[in-house]
Amino acid sequence: MTLYKVCYPCCMVILQRDVSAMPCIYCNSSQLGDLKEHTSLGYRQWRCYDCKKQFNERTATPFNRISYRTEIVVLVVYHRLRFKLSLDDVVELMATRNVFISHQTVQNWTQWFGPVLGIQLRKFRRNTNGKKWHVDHTEIKVSGRTCYLYRCFDKNGDLVDVMLSDNKSHDAAESFFYQCHDTAGFEPDMITTDQEAALESGLKEVFGERVEHRKSKYMNNRLEQDHRAPKSRYRPMKGFGDEFAAMNFLHSFEELRQHLRAKGCTRSEKRRKSPSKINDLVSLVA
Ligand SMILES: [Zn+2]
Repeated sequence: MTLYKVCYPCCMVILQRDVSAMPCIYCNSSQLGDLKEHTSLGYRQWRCYDCKKQFNERTATPFNRISYRTEIVVLVVYHRLRFKLSLDDVVELMATRNVFISHQTVQNWTQWFGPVLGIQLRKFRRNTNGKKWHVDHTEIKVSGRTCYLYRCFDKNGDLVDVMLSDNKSHDAAESFFYQCHDTAGFEPDMITTDQEAALESGLKEVFGERVEHRKSKYMNNRLEQDHRAPKSRYRPMKGFGDEFAAMNFLHSFEELRQHLRAKGCTRSEKRRKSPSKINDLVSLVA
């Protein structure tokens, strides 16, 4: 069972997991001694009677040895990915919560933990997509060169997958369709693309005749309009340094956007739902 409490003075929502039944992370033994002292960040600690090793709540997570609580790291990454904020803006926002970090820390955490968050969110939504997909690509500038961001969404507007490529060719389209298949966990019934030949040949290579291919310039209008979201988000960042950084950022951005998406809600319902969705991020990665 997961509980949350609010920490003062930083007003951070702190995750409180039920860790009473947690086995040893090294040997899986349940013979554990609960240590009285918590870590300096407030995490509970145990010693295993079998392997004699000591560990705490965060030892086996990617956040081990970070000198701030996981909730703070996730909140920084969330601010950086979700909003059009510069590194210094995020630093200033965190300072209002009595959390003092440098702009380089914001950059590092986004690069390290953005993909961690993205991968967990992608696993979480496996087998949830619809069977009619829309695929298109848009141009993204990476260190002065034009790259192509392939994006696939289902009929309801839910993300299937994204991929960045430095060319728009048959091979790029083929690897993107393989990736979409792996992420979704099944083959779709129908894929709609614009009239680009590379997408058609890639689709035939991966799915053959099993998937209906609909070629229409107008049926993909919603997706064409949706390309504005990643483009408008990365524009204030004045471009990406390299393709690796671009793919990391865009993948994490799209996954987070999908996670926070509220369908069929009024604005007030969306406001009520969003705190629990943001808190879910911590329980997903920690
Ligand atoms: Zn052990």
